[in-house]
Amino acid sequence: MKPPIAIVGGGLAGIAAAIRLVDAGERVVLLESRKKLGGRATSFVDPRSGEMLDNCQHVLMGSCTNLLDLYDRLGVLGSVQWHPRVWWANPPYEPDVMMPGRLPAPGHFSISFLRMKFLGVADKRSIARAMWRLIRLGREGRERWRGKSFGEFLTDTKQTRAARELFWEPVITSACNVSCDRADAFYAMYVFQQGFLQDSWSPVMGLSSVPLLSLYDPAEEILRTGGGELRVGVSALALAFDGRRVTGVVTDEGMVESSSVIAAVPPDRLAKLCSDTLRAADIRLRRLEEIQFSPILGVHLFFDQPIMQTPHIVLPGRATQWLFDKGVDSQGRYHIHAVISAADEWMELDEADIVVKVMDDVQWALPNTRGLDPVAFRAVKEKRATFACTPGIDDLRPSAVRDGIRGGIDNLLLAGDWCDTGWPATMEGAVRSGYLAADGCSAFNGATKIRGLIPDVPPAGLARMLGL
Ligand SMILES: Cc1cc2nc3c(=O)[nH]c(=O)nc-3n(C[C@H](O)[C@H](O)[C@H](O)COP(=O)(O)OP(=O)(O)OC[C@H]3O[C@@H](n4cnc5c(N)ncnc54)[C@H](O)[C@@H]3O)c2cc1C
Repeated sequence: MKPPIAIVGGGLAGIAAAIRLVDAGERVVLLESRKKLGGRATSFVDPRSGEMLDNCQHVLMGSCTNLLDLYDRLGVLGSVQWHPRVWWANPPYEPDVMMPGRLPAPGHFSISFLRMKFLGVADKRSIARAMWRLIRLGREGRERWRGKSFGEFLTDTKQTRAARELFWEPVITSACNVSCDRADAFYAMYVFQQGFLQDSWSPVMGLSSVPLLSLYDPAEEILRTGGGELRVGVSALALAFDGRRVTGVVTDEGMVESSSVIAAVPPDRLAKLCSDTLRAADIRLRRLEEIQFSPILGVHLFFDQPIMQTPHIVLPGRATQWLFDKGVDSQGRYHIHAVISAADEWMELDEADIVVKVMDDVQWALPNTRGLDPVAFRAVKEKRATFACTPGIDDLRPSAVRDGIRGGIDNLLLAGDWCDTGWPATMEGAVRSGYLAADGCSAFNGATKIRGLIPDVPPAGLARMLGL
């Protein structure tokens, strides 16, 4: 029997590659150093309370076709709750609601946008001007902005200060995990063009109704049914290389021989697995250390009375970008989760100071909480949450398969949200990378051909005619 395909890393990229290969009849061994699957999109048991908490709220969108396909293969698609409405705090008034309406895309948000009160007339006019420019630029025009900052685009389209701070910053900081001035314009434009403007389904927000970790429960059984294996608590130490091909993975539990290897670990971890000879042999491995990261802070807050009237809320202009209502926990406490993306300035703060700052934002957004203190809290800092989606990042993102012109190792496939997927660092990007690696692997192994990526949501008729 030929050796299995080894996949290093049981985050979404590794899981996606494994499930896709098993579905195509391949035998895989998935190696994960932690005792559980999910990587950065997972849950942990809080030692203080014994409650299972997600490391951070993870949001998906209707446009995440590959992630949804993976959930479908895992049989957990029904755990996604869909939220077409997005609430924006506007104290002391009721929150504004943004939702797709009856007009065809790209005009589907117009009516709710015009009704939103937290922006003035001049701000809305400037946002509408930028949106029109994004529509006219289309996909081709977006390419020309690759490598420039989205801040330049906002200056170019004469955005008001309030439009920048209250509208563009919360959306881009949440989606790209860097501020508008730091974000590569290509990715920020992608978020608006393909995520919001091109159709009404793509912007619909999905949230898991179960802890993230449980979404991956079916994976082990699927792998076993395919003759493969999930090995958690096993760390890869090195990729074995015979000068021409990788022959397996050296782990802390011995050698795992394999026909191909999919390395689905972050770039800094991958660098540690590769010998100098291996890195010299494959151009994709040469610039791994140059990829920079950006932090995210998630803060779990527990109250002894109901706090939120909406399932979530955006906090325009505040350091905390989002609050999510996580329901009532097993101890009867009302759980809300605060998210701060691009949280560089928060990383040195201790937990008590973090909670004071976050509560300031909570009390601003939800005036009914004034005078209330949480009965418990838990801040989760992720210093290397995502790669920094800054201008020039595309030069550093390697493809899943070897470079056809500049060479590389045929049977070494790369996966991870940081690989070249065209998406910012997201769960969808991670799954895309896994599917691309599985595709490359099947091509190399001469196995059943995997048909690459799941197609994007097509743009609606008018949006397509306008170039989106
Ligand atoms: C706080 C936070 C909030 C986020 N919010 C969102 C969101 O709302 N929406 C969204 O779409 N995305 C979000 N993301 C991004 C998303 O979580 C990631 O893009 C995605 O999970 C990356 O998956 P991955 O498989 O590429 O990498 P990882 O999840 O990092 O997986 C890599 C795996 O490899 C394992 N590993 C590392 N070294 C070894 C080794 N030597 N041997 C064996 N195993 C090893 C690791 O333990 C890990 O499990 C967020 C990320 C963070 C951190």
